[in-house]
Amino acid sequence: MDGRRGDALSALVTPIVVIGAGIVGACGAAYLQRDGRDVLLLDHGEPGMGASFGNGGMLSASSIVPVAMPGTLGKVPRWLIDAEGPLAIRWSYLPRLVPWLARFAAASAPARVEAQARALRALLKDSLEHFAPLLRDAGAEALVRRQGMLYLYGSEAAWRGDLRAMDLRRRNGVVIEEIERRALGEREPDLGAAVTHARFIPDNGFTTNPLRLVQTLVRQIAARGGRVVQERVLGFETNDAQVTAVRTDRGRHPASAVVLAAGAWSRALAAQLGDPVPLDTERGYHVVVKDPEKTVRTPAIFVDGAFGITPMEDGLRLAGTVELGGLEAGANWARADAILNRGRRILPGLLERHDESRLSRWLGFRPSLPDSLPVIGTSSRYANAYYAFGHGHVGMCAAPLTGKLLSELIGGKSLSIDIGPFSPRRF
Ligand SMILES: Cc1cc2nc3c(=O)[nH]c(=O)nc-3n(C[C@H](O)[C@H](O)[C@H](O)COP(=O)(O)OP(=O)(O)OC[C@H]3O[C@@H](n4cnc5c(N)ncnc54)[C@H](O)[C@@H]3O)c2cc1C
Repeated sequence: MDGRRGDALSALVTPIVVIGAGIVGACGAAYLQRDGRDVLLLDHGEPGMGASFGNGGMLSASSIVPVAMPGTLGKVPRWLIDAEGPLAIRWSYLPRLVPWLARFAAASAPARVEAQARALRALLKDSLEHFAPLLRDAGAEALVRRQGMLYLYGSEAAWRGDLRAMDLRRRNGVVIEEIERRALGEREPDLGAAVTHARFIPDNGFTTNPLRLVQTLVRQIAARGGRVVQERVLGFETNDAQVTAVRTDRGRHPASAVVLAAGAWSRALAAQLGDPVPLDTERGYHVVVKDPEKTVRTPAIFVDGAFGITPMEDGLRLAGTVELGGLEAGANWARADAILNRGRRILPGLLERHDESRLSRWLGFRPSLPDSLPVIGTSSRYANAYYAFGHGHVGMCAAPLTGKLLSELIGGKSLSIDIGPFSPRRF
């Protein structure tokens, strides 16, 4: 048999190895399977227990505003002195963060912000449509709802302060409705006087249970014949041009191609594949209040506090804020409690009597590049190694199109959108 036919044959019987069973890896594996590929999904933990576990669940096609905007850096000192503010820094981590912060500052230049917002909009716009076939296959349609989303503000100044971001959204095709305070009260009777202004985005959706969404997709991948294996990936076996196998703590898995979708933990593996990307983490917290006395009917982002409020299957989830401190430092649960305190001011009567048995707290690791864009593309060194990580604040929403793009890229098809802005070589 000539070498080329031999390669083609082994590609048919050797699986594509997807590293990371979060929402991105799950959507990637699911789209690859729909394309007739054999997949092996590897995660050292239970599927869905990374960032995809505890997020706000918003499928927010309007979340196209990069974290680094003109003027963001000027607000940092004020944020840092506010114990309940949207940003905290672990000072011991600062020296390691400086190069990331320098790139973050550069990414806030107006022309770059415009380009980043355009790229994000293309990735997020049709999220619900790209989820639809995967949900149908898995019988999981009920886990995703198209119900719109509110932006809430605690003052006219905060509402005005968001005009620039809203203008960026509008110019990229996001439909935004201004809501009068009285009309807001009719829609959301539990909101207190601490909320003074609101906007509504009719086209956004959300999932009522991000973990169950990932688990359901992964179960469907297994039901279709994909292998799901709990092992930690350590590295790769390669020849000059290709990855031939994935090495784990338990052994090795021959691979016809690899997809790196290990979220915030992708940096070292990407470097092994030839791409030293400046991936770090924006840590975030959540609090879930079980059997909440007060709630929102529509998922909402409280802009002043940089957290979302989502009515979920297991309770009311308040999730968000940013803590820069790397992957190793332990949790600072005061950050989670700060979200809860602010949430209780927005929804007076929520957890009126403090009851620890109705509360759960979580720390999660957003995989974040300084320009708020993920890395989607092909390795610089190995033609059969692909990247799908770094989705920052929008991974739940961006995952299905990312998965579809992977299947198009690997199948040599034309791509649904331009992935140039997500190149691993842009840094
Ligand atoms: C507080 C908070 C709120 C958020 N709210 C939203 C929201 O409302 N909407 C939204 O769209 N996004 C939101 N996000 C962001 C979203 O959660 C992430 O972008 C998304 O979950 C990233 O998915 P992922 O699959 O890339 O990573 P993960 O879910 O972290 O999955 C990566 C997986 O890789 C595995 N892994 C890592 N290293 C290895 C290895 N060496 N070997 C094997 N396996 C490995 C991990 O165990 C993990 O399961 C939020 C994030 C936070 C923290």
